[in-house]
Amino acid sequence: MRRISIFGATGSIGQNTIDLIRRDAQAYDVAALSGGSNIALLAADAMELRADIAVTAFPDRLDDLKAALAGSGVEAAAGPAALLEAASRPADWVMSAIVGSAGLAPGLKALEQGAALALANKESLVCAGALLLETARRHNARILPVDSEHSAVFQGLVGEDMDAVERIIITASGGAFRDWPLEDLPEASLAQASSHPNWDMGQRITIDSASMFNKALEVIETREFFGVRPDQIEVLVHPESLVHALVGFRDGALMAHVGAPDMRHAIGYALNWPERKQLPVDRLDLARAGQLNFRAPDDTRYPALRLAYEVLERGGLMGAVFNAAKERALDHFIAGRCRFTDMAATVEEVMARMDAQSDLIDAAMTLDNVSQMDHLARQRADEVLMQKAG
Ligand code: NDP
Ligand code: MG
Repeated sequence: MRRISIFGATGSIGQNTIDLIRRDAQAYDVAALSGGSNIALLAADAMELRADIAVTAFPDRLDDLKAALAGSGVEAAAGPAALLEAASRPADWVMSAIVGSAGLAPGLKALEQGAALALANKESLVCAGALLLETARRHNARILPVDSEHSAVFQGLVGEDMDAVERIIITASGGAFRDWPLEDLPEASLAQASSHPNWDMGQRITIDSASMFNKALEVIETREFFGVRPDQIEVLVHPESLVHALVGFRDGALMAHVGAPDMRHAIGYALNWPERKQLPVDRLDLARAGQLNFRAPDDTRYPALRLAYEVLERGGLMGAVFNAAKERALDHFIAGRCRFTDMAATVEEVMARMDAQSDLIDAAMTLDNVSQMDHLARQRADEVLMQKAG
């Protein structure tokens, strides 16, 4: 039996992971499940999968979780320290599917105890890629990509020599507003930004797809995962979301990964790696799909992409600044306190302000320094947005 834990179990990726586990439940021994405010779902899944412990990230929900788990034998815990304790319990495979930089510390803990870390939480690579990779190396642990594009690239690289790789192309659907007139973007509503043309995902990543911040994070994620130079990473808008990524080799060959837009493919690949096992995903009928379209992303529509390359050029802790400013700007957009287009403008302004404090940006990449930078960038984002509003 494989011992596994799932962090962010109540979210979109977490539930897709549980769907796969449930189909072969006797093969898995579940150590920990974590969630946030969806206590009923966390408790139900923890009891069904007979987890040792269920953890909610929010301390004020501990009593609810205890009540929901009463008599089940599943331990209940809450708060960031409890998350770390759960992540330090031995496991063979850990799913990192918390949303946001809150996923970083539990991911590091899981690597420290040598687990294979299936990484959906791209934010942790963006904030602290070098720290994550170094922690994995030191503890002889594996990080397996779960983001669909990075899983696609990872699969395209099996048996290949990295020296032969010329470029990596990740595709983007273009999000909810890819065909909107530019002048309408400032007025885009939360409901409009929260509907994705092809993928069914959590609300935050769906809005990040509309703004292309998701692809911006993925450009940085590509650099960290595969160690290629920024000029080797390209983004291609592909409205059908059937080709997830392409790897270009020095002999001119382009290897594309094609499949139905269903996260259970990438999750299942990471779960079964290095084997391929049967997965419950639609088999693509390309004759029915008929057409695959591609176009270059428009820089004016998607300023977030340019910012990602600036982050890579600047290096240091700028990734943590970029991610935190984006998370905070997104909080404000969701709360109705800023316009859709204010998000990218805010992130750009926060990056400029933090860049002026180069001693901070160039500090060593430790968890403490990354957390401090995350905190500062959120404060700056609040200031910038307050000025815009006033
Ligand atoms: P969801 O919002 O659906 O789920 C997020 C999970 O994190 C939930 O379990 C939530 O708990 C929990 N959570 C929320 N806030 C905190 C916190 N502060 N501390 C700890 N846990 C918290 O997100 P997704 O599943 O869509 O995304 C998860 C990660 O995977 C993200 O990093 C995303 O970028 C990445 N990803 C997602 C894809 C997708 O298809 N959804 C595709 C590729 C990558 P609760 O809901 O109980 O409050
Ligand atoms: Mg993706």
